[in-house]
Amino acid sequence: MSSKYLRDSSYIDGKWFNSKSNRYFDVLNPATGTILSRVNDIEPTDVELAIQAAERAFPSWSKMTSKERASIMRRFYELIIENADELAAILTQEQGKPLSEAKTEIIYGASFIEWFSEEGKRLYGDIIPSPIANSKIIVEKSPVGVCAFITPWNFPSAMITRKIGAAMAAGCTCVVKPAHETPLSALALAALAEEAGVPKGVLNIVTGTDSHNIGRVLCDSEIVRKVSFTGSTDVGKILYRQCAATVKKISLELGGNAPFIVFPDADLDAAVSGAIICKYRNAGQTCVCANRFYIHEDVYDKFASKLADKVRKLKVGDGLDKGVDIGPLITPDALEKVRSHINDALGQGAKLIEGGDTHDLGGSYFKPTILGNAMEGMLIAKEETFGPVAPLFKFKDIDDVLRQANNTQFGLAAYFYAKDLALINKVYNGLEYGMVAVNTPILSTEVAPFGGVKESGIGREGSKYGLDDFIELKYVLLGGLE
Ligand code: NAP
Repeated sequence: MSSKYLRDSSYIDGKWFNSKSNRYFDVLNPATGTILSRVNDIEPTDVELAIQAAERAFPSWSKMTSKERASIMRRFYELIIENADELAAILTQEQGKPLSEAKTEIIYGASFIEWFSEEGKRLYGDIIPSPIANSKIIVEKSPVGVCAFITPWNFPSAMITRKIGAAMAAGCTCVVKPAHETPLSALALAALAEEAGVPKGVLNIVTGTDSHNIGRVLCDSEIVRKVSFTGSTDVGKILYRQCAATVKKISLELGGNAPFIVFPDADLDAAVSGAIICKYRNAGQTCVCANRFYIHEDVYDKFASKLADKVRKLKVGDGLDKGVDIGPLITPDALEKVRSHINDALGQGAKLIEGGDTHDLGGSYFKPTILGNAMEGMLIAKEETFGPVAPLFKFKDIDDVLRQANNTQFGLAAYFYAKDLALINKVYNGLEYGMVAVNTPILSTEVAPFGGVKESGIGREGSKYGLDDFIELKYVLLGGLE
């Protein structure tokens, strides 16, 4: 692979940094299994250097006017957009998603840098009428300080920009640890930040395979004042515990188990098209992908047959090839998880409607799959499958479908299709989720608060609420005034 934005080492204090151990790890192309690049494997102790660089950069970055920060961030945004094709090619090769989806991710990811660069100018405080004579109450907003970010492989670019956009706009400095499967998109962002004039130390990226110990260094540090993590619920819980010792602020964007409900009055064709996007994009590897499809008994057969017609036409292949809809899964382990969910469901009486096995292309390619007769006790109802499998559950009444949809420890995204306004109101009020999409399959945007309830996480990313996670409030009581 060639690109002027390919790098093979960490980025610390404005320099490309190799750990003295000189160990490297392979970055594989999941479409071919071949090695794309070898990236320096940072020693966890060297992560301290990145934290210190972020600490040194904090005073000047946080004291800059928001307008000055905004103009640097604007340039960063423009460079990402100018190089979107090149960045998308890197992303597809290390992650596997089709090129068009990769480009959408780059543009979506850049939108957070753009939006927060503007919103950073509106970090207004307050003046509160004081109940104490001759005094005034001032509430100021200040940046939390050095922030550490740990991000997953499924959106290697956007999961980083969603965090650093808000943090940098608030005046914080950053240390980012991307997933070891997809460090190249992260390093390309660092190269662009450098070109945009982001001062040294404001954005540091550490690449390594010892994620447990890198995480420990970031969580144990007294300099790091906030950790924001996107990834699995299990790892999120480890980090939550680790952050307790230094009482850090924490944001967690964790797993989901999204229901997708189709009511009898829904526009069925729209629901089927929505299901294809919501389930099969990124080969089903998104936290907001529909995981359970609840279809009303009156429209179940029609929905299943229309969905199968569309699924049969999906093209599986290397994301770089034209016309490909579904790329490979990230690793063979991911494929085994998908297979185990399908086998468990079939063993408990599910019916195979489409797909169900590895694709003829081999590797970690899996056929887009539909299962009928899905039931509550199955693994697929309880856990995130993170693969291209749509299990269809039949339901009769609203209260029962709401109970089933909420019967999970997760609460990230939920989708439903219906026309009746009273029903729509009842259902979105009844869904215990951080985000609900009605009659549409995609809800992520930089202007809205993204995040979950229950074990899907803490905090929100994007929108004016996303900035709140990166500020401290300082209450000043000005007394002795005449
Ligand atoms: P993961 O295994 O939790 O890994 C996420 C990140 O955590 C990676 O950078 C990983 O590094 C690191 N990590 C792993 N173990 C760690 C530890 N003990 N201490 C510190 N860091 C550690 O999750 P994933 O498989 O990459 O991503 C899939 C999950 O992310 C899914 O559950 C999905 O729902 C969730 N997700 C949620 C959102 C959201 O916004 N809610 C968005 C996207 C994805 P290494 O890869 O180097 O081990």
